[in-house]
Amino acid sequence: MATLVGGIATSHTPTIGFAVDTKKQQDPVWAPIFKDYEPVRQWLKDKAPDVLFYIYNDHVTSFFFDHYSHFALGVDDSYPVADEGGGPRDLPALQGHPGLSRHIAHCLTMEEFDLSYFQKKGLDHGAFSPLSLLWPHEGGWPGAIVPLQVGVLVFPGPTARRCFKLGQALRRAIESYEEDIRVAIVGTGGLSHQVHGERCGFNNTPWDMEFLDLLEKDPEQLTKLTIAQYAERGGVEGAEVIMWLIMRGALAPKVKKLHQSYYLPSMTPICAVIYEDDPASLPAPAAAGEYRKRVSRELAGIEKLEGSYPFTLDRSLKAYRLNEFLHRLIEPGFRKRFLDDPEPLYTEAGLTGEEQDLVRRRDWRAMMHYGVIFFMLEKLAAVIGTTNLHVYAAMRGQSLEEFQKTRNAQVLYSVAGKDEGKINWDKK
Ligand code: FE
Repeated sequence: MATLVGGIATSHTPTIGFAVDTKKQQDPVWAPIFKDYEPVRQWLKDKAPDVLFYIYNDHVTSFFFDHYSHFALGVDDSYPVADEGGGPRDLPALQGHPGLSRHIAHCLTMEEFDLSYFQKKGLDHGAFSPLSLLWPHEGGWPGAIVPLQVGVLVFPGPTARRCFKLGQALRRAIESYEEDIRVAIVGTGGLSHQVHGERCGFNNTPWDMEFLDLLEKDPEQLTKLTIAQYAERGGVEGAEVIMWLIMRGALAPKVKKLHQSYYLPSMTPICAVIYEDDPASLPAPAAAGEYRKRVSRELAGIEKLEGSYPFTLDRSLKAYRLNEFLHRLIEPGFRKRFLDDPEPLYTEAGLTGEEQDLVRRRDWRAMMHYGVIFFMLEKLAAVIGTTNLHVYAAMRGQSLEEFQKTRNAQVLYSVAGKDEGKINWDKK
């Protein structure tokens, strides 16, 4: 079974990553950052977690306002560094842990948290700035991560209470994971700062100290504060510190604080804290088997449905490249190139030989088996000027006529819009 080895809280100001990249270890202004994080590096080295469950927020780098959600769980097998304007930092990509991601997704969904899932997105300074100092990474990172992106930049966002409860559910999720892995939980962001408007430059060290004290000894108190109260006390951007409550919620009611440092060189305090459970304060663990049964209840038996391929997170990961290729057919320019000469596009998109072959042969059934979702098939059908009914018949291994006989009326349709010649079959 997985073990939760403890929690880290850290600021994620870009200052930390900048200090690392420009090697400011000997500079007296920057040196305290390196000194303050040394105990955290050592703790991680001693605890040797296989996975960091890493709570951060993206700064409108990889998550834009076209689709902004409260809790986005990374379900990928790899996370590169995002480009925030001047080229990505020179850090290796992080390995994901799709198995743990999937398990957590099932658990949190059962506990009524409405997640979104992400893949193929770079992580910005919210994740990599402190991580590049916490975890040595020459020649690769020492473990994998499961990131959780929290949508704290658009209001209304999650509340402090919601974050704390999510953390409590997260502990149950991690502790019921069957693999023998060690997991540490990292909450990032904060402390008091504001980076926009005439109030930019606002800090409040007395409030930061009070927050740190309550986080350790009485986190429930912090769940009673509104976002407006967090903004008043710690700055509007500083309200992101509610992400620390997710980390704290996952730990025992009583914790031991092993380290705390606080340094305010410029706009944002650089703060790092280590907590471990006080095991005496933990309630008797719920039977993991019972919990896992509850978690799997929603989809139990679905795999027995014949001729059915529910689009699960593992299908989504496995067939991402091919689904993405077909999804791009909604772009007029891509669509035109696909119809004119698809071969260079296959290479550009990095489709494997098998994937290219499936598209070339329009093998609807095999694409479905491979992991393509039906709604990509109907797009491809529209683009090449055929109908949904042709696809349905092919998936069932029937001729169009045979399949049509199973319907009350023999009609044809597709999702094609106004493109020239796309519904010629309707005129026949
Ligand atoms: Fe932030």
